[in-house]
Amino acid sequence: MEQLTTLTAKIQQYKSQYKNPNNIKLIAVSKGQPVEKMIALYNEGQRAFGENYLQEAQDKILALADKEIEWHYIGKIQSNKTKKIAEYFSWAQTVASNNIAKRLSEQRPSHLAPLNICIEVNISNQASKSGVAPSDVLALANYCMTLPNLKLRGLMCIPEQHTHLSDQRKIFHDMFLLYKSLCEQGLPLDTLSMGMSGDMEAAIAEGSTMVRIGTALFGERLS
Ligand SMILES: *Cc1c(COP(=O)(O)O)cnc(C)c1O
Repeated sequence: MEQLTTLTAKIQQYKSQYKNPNNIKLIAVSKGQPVEKMIALYNEGQRAFGENYLQEAQDKILALADKEIEWHYIGKIQSNKTKKIAEYFSWAQTVASNNIAKRLSEQRPSHLAPLNICIEVNISNQASKSGVAPSDVLALANYCMTLPNLKLRGLMCIPEQHTHLSDQRKIFHDMFLLYKSLCEQGLPLDTLSMGMSGDMEAAIAEGSTMVRIGTALFGERLS
């Protein structure tokens, strides 16, 4: 699939242009995309996929059970969904409350490795968006560290979209500073999940370690 090669080259280009020292992991966001396209990408070497809707994700996970895929849950987490998320996924990137974190840890099957998690930050302070306020992140991070079946990896955000690169960078820079301050306070984090099809350049410029790309990789979504 030509898109994967092109996208990987673009990530490398931004990485060197902005001197981002991190390995930038690509999550292929496959919500609304058919399994056939996912298999094509898998055959090109892509292993990490992100899904937002639990029923759709479960169907795909079963359909692709013979493949070695690392599944990332990136949708909103309601408390009645935690059990399935804890059973089916390697990562949950949108943890935003003590209650959700506690449930995910309690419901993680004991034969599986701890569930990797990111705390979703409402970095643009948008009333309509989910995620915790920046000022509440440290407390939630410390709480997650006490939960035996979770492995706190870092932070993620879905920021407000801006037309100008400098405005978009400013938001991601705030995320970077927050991430850095948590690291300096001793939290063992290695993941700053930021950057989507429309804002990848700004995110990589500000130190992203993980980008979540849907349409730029697969084309428009069917649903
Ligand atoms: C849909 C989605 C993406 C991918 O968005 P694109 O604009 O298609 O790249 C990334 N992250 C989250 C949380 C999403 O919901």
